[in-house]
Amino acid sequence: MCIFCRIVSGELPASVVYEDDQVIAFLDIQPINPGHVLVVPKYHAQSMEDLPEEDAAHMMRVGQIIDKALRKSDLRCEGVNMFIADGRVAGQDVDHIHLHVFPRFKGDGFELKVPSDARKTPGREQLDETAGKLKRALQVVT
Ligand code: AMP
Ligand code: ZN
Repeated sequence: MCIFCRIVSGELPASVVYEDDQVIAFLDIQPINPGHVLVVPKYHAQSMEDLPEEDAAHMMRVGQIIDKALRKSDLRCEGVNMFIADGRVAGQDVDHIHLHVFPRFKGDGFELKVPSDARKTPGREQLDETAGKLKRALQVVT
C-alpha cells in the first residue's frame, strides 16, 4: 500500500483538517508554509487520468474550501498556491495523486523558478500547430 493509502486506512498518522466520503485533506509533513494541505482521493489513483472527472472536480472543490479557510484562519496567508504534480517528470514523488494547497505571503522564500532558457517563443504558426494537436486529442478524451 502507498503512503497515502496507509494514511487513508488509519495505519499512518496524519493531521487531518477535512474529510468526506471521497477525499481526505491533511497537513504536509514538509510544508512550504504552515497550513500546507494535501487533498487526497480516498482510493489509490496514480495520475489525473486515473480519476473520474467528477472525482477530479471534487478534489478541486475541496481545494477551494481549504483556500477559503486558510484566508479566514489565523495562519499567515496573503495568497494561495494550488499545485498538482502529475507524473515523475512533473515533480510527483508520491504516486497517489494529490492537490497541494498552501498559503503564501510576501517574503516566504518560495518561488517557481523558470530558467529563462526554459521558455520558448514560438510564432503563431507554431502555436496554431500545437493547438491543432491538442484539439485533436481533446476530441478523443471528451
Ligand atoms: P509530490 O512531490 O507532489 O508528490 O508531493 C508529495 C508530498 O507529500 C511532499 O510535499 C511531502 O512532504 C508529502 N508527504 C510525504 N509523506 C507524507 C506523510 N506521511 N504525511 C504528510 N505528507 C507527506
Ligand atoms: Zn495510494
